[in-house]
Amino acid sequence: MRRPIIAGNWKMYKTIADALELANGLKRELYAIEGVDIVIAPGFTLLDEISDVIAGSNINLGAQNAHWEAEGAFTGEASVAQLKELDVKYIIIGHSERRQFFGETNEGVNKRIKAVLSGGLIPIMCVGENLSQREKGNTFSVVQDHLRGGLEGIEKEEAKDIIFAYEPVWAIGTGKTATPAEAQEVHGFIRKKLAEIYDNDTAQSMRIQYGGSVKPDNIEDLIKQEDIDGALVGGASLKVDSFSEIVKKSVG
Ligand code: PEP
Repeated sequence: MRRPIIAGNWKMYKTIADALELANGLKRELYAIEGVDIVIAPGFTLLDEISDVIAGSNINLGAQNAHWEAEGAFTGEASVAQLKELDVKYIIIGHSERRQFFGETNEGVNKRIKAVLSGGLIPIMCVGENLSQREKGNTFSVVQDHLRGGLEGIEKEEAKDIIFAYEPVWAIGTGKTATPAEAQEVHGFIRKKLAEIYDNDTAQSMRIQYGGSVKPDNIEDLIKQEDIDGALVGGASLKVDSFSEIVKKSVG
């Protein structure tokens, strides 16, 4: 049985005061919830303060990216060691906004994932097709490229901890959600590919989140699907009520 994992991607939202209010609110709402891994991924400038707020709680800290080098002249980037120092546990890698607006490639994603794993942290590796790729019938080939490229050279022993997030780009921030059946079809495909890349036992143990306009009113139908093990949530993670409700509903 795979343990569900719900992660909130705060993107470039919130200043410190608002972020503290959100994190404190989530702590109050979620302190008694068990049976699900809860992650929040605030922007870099918020990590330090939020880390203090959630220390010792059932909410884990995530970051939205990390560079592959340990240190160096890489303006605007953060290293795994720098994030680890703030008690970051999960790092989102290859988010479609990184691929779309900042030119991230499968090769870069692969290097970042390797760095996260060697730093002992857990990558949340995002894969997913955009609208034109879906309309051309290329969903599966795009997802396969993201998986094969991102996982290149990563052995089973290390890969088993990676969390995958299937995020159809056309459903991110648009209010359009893939239907549970559409999402399940791709999740099933991802698990099949992971079984080919690694083996069936490994693939069965890996967790695959769905992301794309997840809300309190659609999480239950999504999480019921055989291969959907949680959600990566953008917009609805920015409010205490909606994110708490999503987390609660993911454990029934
Ligand atoms: C995301 O950014 O990962 C995401 C899924 O956003 P939203 O929930 O707003 O669609």
